[in-house]
Amino acid sequence: MSQKQTLSFQAEVAQLLHLVTHSLYSNKEIFLRELISNASDACDKLRFEALNDTALYEDSPNLEVRVGFDKEARTLTITDNGIGLSQQEAIDNLGTIAKSGTREFMNRLSGDQKADAQLIGQFGVGFYSGFIVADRIMVESRRAGLPSGEGVRWTSGGAGDFEVEAVERHVRGTSVTLHLREDAADYLSTWKLKSIVGKYSDHISLPILMRKEEWKEGPEGKGGEMALTDEWETVNKASALWTRPRKDISAEQYQDFYKQISHDHEAPLAWSHNRVEGSTEYIQLLYIPAHAPFDLWNREKAAGVKLYVKRVFIMEEAEALLPTYLRFVKGVIDSSDLPLNVSRELLQESRDVRAIREGSTKRVLGMLEEMAKQEKAEGATQEDKEKYGKFYAQFGVVLKEGLGEDAGNRERLAKLLRFASTSPDTVSVSLADYKARMKEGQEAIYYITADTMAAAKNSPQLEVFRKKGIEVLLMPDRVDEWALNYLQDFDGTPMQSVAKGAVDLGKLQDEAEKKATEEAAESFKPVLEKLKEALKDKAQDVRVTSRLVDSPACLVVSDGGMSMQLARMLKQAGQQVPEVKPVLEVNTEHALVKKLESTDRFEDLAHILFDQALLAEGGLPEDPAAYVKRVNALLV
Ligand code: ADP
Repeated sequence: MSQKQTLSFQAEVAQLLHLVTHSLYSNKEIFLRELISNASDACDKLRFEALNDTALYEDSPNLEVRVGFDKEARTLTITDNGIGLSQQEAIDNLGTIAKSGTREFMNRLSGDQKADAQLIGQFGVGFYSGFIVADRIMVESRRAGLPSGEGVRWTSGGAGDFEVEAVERHVRGTSVTLHLREDAADYLSTWKLKSIVGKYSDHISLPILMRKEEWKEGPEGKGGEMALTDEWETVNKASALWTRPRKDISAEQYQDFYKQISHDHEAPLAWSHNRVEGSTEYIQLLYIPAHAPFDLWNREKAAGVKLYVKRVFIMEEAEALLPTYLRFVKGVIDSSDLPLNVSRELLQESRDVRAIREGSTKRVLGMLEEMAKQEKAEGATQEDKEKYGKFYAQFGVVLKEGLGEDAGNRERLAKLLRFASTSPDTVSVSLADYKARMKEGQEAIYYITADTMAAAKNSPQLEVFRKKGIEVLLMPDRVDEWALNYLQDFDGTPMQSVAKGAVDLGKLQDEAEKKATEEAAESFKPVLEKLKEALKDKAQDVRVTSRLVDSPACLVVSDGGMSMQLARMLKQAGQQVPEVKPVLEVNTEHALVKKLESTDRFEDLAHILFDQALLAEGGLPEDPAAYVKRVNALLV
């Protein structure tokens, strides 16, 4: 690069800049956190690359960030001696957004500035937040290891384009100079900047330096003001919090650290900080957030645990450190045993990592169990009692994935599950509590899966259970059926879907009832045969049931078979699903079913019964128009 070039921002960047500057102006100060965090990342990267090439440190091995300002020029400069940017990197990294998810970021901007400000951190569009306070940003940088002639100057007014040119730069690393907008001039104050650094960046593990101030008398002893000296002082704590003993860390410091690493403005629900010794040694500091991130559903998204080796930052979101179903956990693992040059691939195979993963999983489950215990603990504060419910509302669905993913901890996980049920006012019951209040003679834990809570609650399958006062767990989450597959029983009691197999209420049904059903089936046999024939393309079988009270018919699948609702879901997702033909069960007490014995519109009525049963459980008739026609014919 010899001359100045003007280049356009990638369309997304331009759009993003517009949004950032227009939606975040009431939470301006976060720009400093973002820029310091970038500076700190750049130092981490240098430290990492220098492991194999100490020459990269050149003549300044002490990594640091300096924050300076010039009141006259109305500029604020954040300088680091980290890895720096080459000319091409400046163009690539500061002109485009490489990360996927930016579009999603923009879609999610809500107009609520507090929430939006938080999103900024999560998406890592940090650098551009400088434009909240600046109408012009200049970045000067040189990548570690490159000659001083290969520095770069990048400038932009934050509209459509930016300029780059080659410059001489003796020092390694990056300085970002913000030309502050008029209404952002209050950042030109040591006191103000120090307080923001204290708030967001205290635990950045490298020193953040600012110039010392001194009182300077005005002329002839009149007036006077604080003036900057040439001496620099460290303004943050600059120590890795997790390396300090637990007793020296206050709850507030733990919370601040969480906010810093997670970019979450809300305090975490719980944390656990331990030095683990034994065959593999490491420090773990793990947090349970109070609310779910925007992309919790993305299983590809790795857990929020950062890996350090002997205090050197190695990688963000090290997915090997925790199982996928615990991807909501945030924190730091600092290993004493792993090699510094460990790669993601190596992590997957390392025995030390496996031990860390097991240990950390147990630790997280322990935290959750502790929280769950508080729900009913005597003397617990209202806040403590509500914590687990709060956690579960946010992450319960993800936790259920663990039933399939983590066989070793299945029993512990099952105890942590909570469900709504058909018992009045029950929005959250544990399997243990359900079991404790089962009716005498009840031999299974009953549950129903459905597409929605309303569909679950109102399903005809529940009628006989309601009538007999048997509690049924309601499971409207997508993951439920898949997860429940892995949970055949709980504490010795089988789990039984009420929509699968024939109803067997065991001892809950008395002999008289059983006999009545059998007799009804016997006398209804000729009609059943006709129904089977009429519906042979739709139903695998037709039988008489005792599970219905108010509804004429319902559909069930065979025990162990895939539910109709799961089959629909998979089909929608474009997957091949084996054709499931359900069993039609009819209630011989119902007027419509009785009518089958005398009607001259048998075919129509048979199909209507089937299609209605399908509708009642959230499906759609194969030929909706034909269904409507048949119903109308009967109506007139
Ligand atoms: P993120 O930091 O989340 O990747 P940013 O928009 O904050 O997103 O920064 C974009 C990229 O610009 C960074 O990934 C990094 O490559 C580069 N960058 C930003 N600040 C610095 C810096 N101080 N030193 C070196 N590179 C930087």
